Amino acid sequence: MIYLDNNATTAIDPAVVEAMLPYLTHHYGNPSSSYSFGKKTAAAVETARDQVAALLGADPREIVFTSCGTESDNTAIASALTTTGQRHLVTTSVEHSAVKIQAESLERQGYGVTWLSVAPDGQLDPTAVAEAIRPDTALVSVMWANNETGVLYPIEAIAALCAERGVLFHTDAVQAVGKLPIDFHKTPIHFLALSGHKLHAPKGIGALAVRRRTRFSPLLLGGAQEKGKRGGTENVAAIVGLGCACELARQRIEEENSRVRTLRDRLESGILARVPSARVNGASAPRLPNTTNITFPGCEAATLLRRLDEAGVCVSAGSACTSGSVSPSHVLKAMGLPDHHALASLRFSLSIANTETEIDHVLALFPSILEPAP
Ligand code: PLP
Repeated sequence: MIYLDNNATTAIDPAVVEAMLPYLTHHYGNPSSSYSFGKKTAAAVETARDQVAALLGADPREIVFTSCGTESDNTAIASALTTTGQRHLVTTSVEHSAVKIQAESLERQGYGVTWLSVAPDGQLDPTAVAEAIRPDTALVSVMWANNETGVLYPIEAIAALCAERGVLFHTDAVQAVGKLPIDFHKTPIHFLALSGHKLHAPKGIGALAVRRRTRFSPLLLGGAQEKGKRGGTENVAAIVGLGCACELARQRIEEENSRVRTLRDRLESGILARVPSARVNGASAPRLPNTTNITFPGCEAATLLRRLDEAGVCVSAGSACTSGSVSPSHVLKAMGLPDHHALASLRFSLSIANTETEIDHVLALFPSILEPAP
């Protein structure tokens, strides 16, 4: 199998499994217990908090562990609305469903939502954010990197203008963390969401970085865990795994940026050379080093996906959450692609585990894989 769907999820790093195992077996104490058996797991949680904070350039006290990226996003948005008492949200038309569905639900409940559009190459103009902010704006929420196209948004500029206007700023950094250097302290971001399974940690663990002195209202009430910011007994083994994955990502971020980018570029230029009609979505925008989203005019992504699967290659047609449905991607539509082009697009997303041999194997499938069935 050649796995090129790392924006959907990643393989757990063997070192992460190793780090987690003791907490799935003999170190099962509850971190809230006052005896030393519990204190050992509490200490492991704090080590992981240090590791996550180090990757983000944050203070460990700013890290709240959650169950996933979606919970982190939902928490940030709900907290901003509760603590400010304001009823307007600014976001984009290309967010992941973790933000999009919540914003749509808020809209149905009578909240105001301004949906910012993007340019045909996927880029977002920060002045549009400035223009959308109103006196009743509770929060601006803009993702750091798009999960479908890899396009990066001008987070530093948006954070700075939100700070200037005194508005809270949240970024869904689920696809950026581990792939790009992030400096939470230098950039005036109030909330930053991340997810373990996108950076070689297990599924079902995430974190929300909450800037110090930001007023906060928890989503899950019930216990004093996470200093009252998130009720529920900590998923210690997964937290330890996330910490280990963040530590590895910090060591590997250079490699992720250069080696993976080289492989992605080899795949992209190889496909364009073999299929002259193919188009890379967001090609002229700054992008994640591991992602390419390609339209194959005249083809059906669902058919290509099936043929690639038969050839042992995993890719995606849109985000994992929307695959299985045939509706065109809202991200590609927001970039102005007509439905038939959006439905002819594939996403290839790489990781440090991929090799040049794998890329060449995939390239050898083109263009014959696009030919109509006999
Ligand atoms: N945000 C983005 C940009 C994503 O790509 C994803 C997952 O695909 C999420 C949020 C949701 O993360 P999780 O699966 O941990 O809930």
